[in-house]
Amino acid sequence: MEINNEFKQLGLSDKALHAITKKGFEQPSPIQKITIPVLLSEDNDIIAQAQTGTGKTAAFGLPLIEKLEGQPKGIKTLVLVPTRELALQVCDEMLSLAEKRVVITAVYGGQSISEQQRRIKKGVDIVVGTPGRILDLIRRGDLDFSSLQYFVLDEADEMLNMGFIDDIELIMKHTPDEKRVWLFSATMPDRIVKLAKKYMKSPKKLQVDRTQPTTGLTDQIYFEVHEGDKFDALTRIIDIEPEFYGLVFCRTRNDVDTVTNKLIERGYAAEGLHGEISQAQREKTLKKFRKKYINILIATDVAARGIDIADLTHVINYSLPQDPESYIHRIGRTGRAGKQGTAITFVSPTEYRKLNYFQKATKVNIRKELLPAAEDIV
Ligand code: ADP
Ligand code: MG
Repeated sequence: MEINNEFKQLGLSDKALHAITKKGFEQPSPIQKITIPVLLSEDNDIIAQAQTGTGKTAAFGLPLIEKLEGQPKGIKTLVLVPTRELALQVCDEMLSLAEKRVVITAVYGGQSISEQQRRIKKGVDIVVGTPGRILDLIRRGDLDFSSLQYFVLDEADEMLNMGFIDDIELIMKHTPDEKRVWLFSATMPDRIVKLAKKYMKSPKKLQVDRTQPTTGLTDQIYFEVHEGDKFDALTRIIDIEPEFYGLVFCRTRNDVDTVTNKLIERGYAAEGLHGEISQAQREKTLKKFRKKYINILIATDVAARGIDIADLTHVINYSLPQDPESYIHRIGRTGRAGKQGTAITFVSPTEYRKLNYFQKATKVNIRKELLPAAEDIV
């Protein structure tokens, strides 16, 4: 089961991997990679920051489930979120990750409080709620926090934006001192730092590395292409651009060979680069490409690692990369030194979900375009 390998390396149990597979997650997101091992093995207060849509819920949800399973009854975690919608969303995401290993409930305004009281009375491990409703339930004596271990402030920046600071502080006062505080946020304004100083014990900061190559000068588009039509799509793109000077990424060595050979057969100046080609040959190929004796280089991610070529007009993802970071790295090769480049991704109908996830994770907008028609080619 290769898909779960990276999740497994984070220290998650087989039960967790089962849920992850069922949800269709193939790779942990960057923030998940950073936070999950720490939350599983250490016992710190933490501040975690990553952009919206990058899987922060699972980043704290998965470790919580692992830690709380099998413990005696009682509320062991409180997750505060800013809105009703988020209370439901976060609760649903955690329920699907938990597969009944722990009991989770959402409480928020606008829904019958007696129904929520009833669910809490039956015994829950994790309560996800909005500040207003949580306070209401505290005042009614429905929330027993005496066995609380974790206090998660989710979407902390939003909660402060919405004016919940006093509510948060009040709720804090009703929780035991020994708990851990985990703060998750998309941004880190001063007010959050202040809040952290006041209520957290030397929190560990976990952030996604923001030093990735910039993508500002790269025009990012994708074409919907069925697997069998990819080669024709590639030649059309090359044909339509007289100055084409590009790097084409394939998933496997075999794909690199196939695409390269087909291009050469049709008279294109192309060469391939992958791990089974000798070092000497690879260097020759690179030299030719740099001098523009050939204008098309086909490569695997590994073979292209560290290659820095100045003025590529195109980076083409013949197939989607493994994860959002690879996408950023691949396209980071074009649009350098003030020149606009184009990054083109071929997406087959089955890969849309993955593309959407990349867009969320990288916060880039990848525009859909129609393939140039054969008549457009000069
Ligand atoms: P955030 O809280 O950072 O804004 P969410 O936790 O709401 O992000 O996750 C956004 C979406 O991404 C959800 O639909 C979630 O199921 C999905 N997601 C989370 N982690 C992964 C992953 N590793 N692979 C694919 N999708 C994921
Ligand atoms: Mg979130």
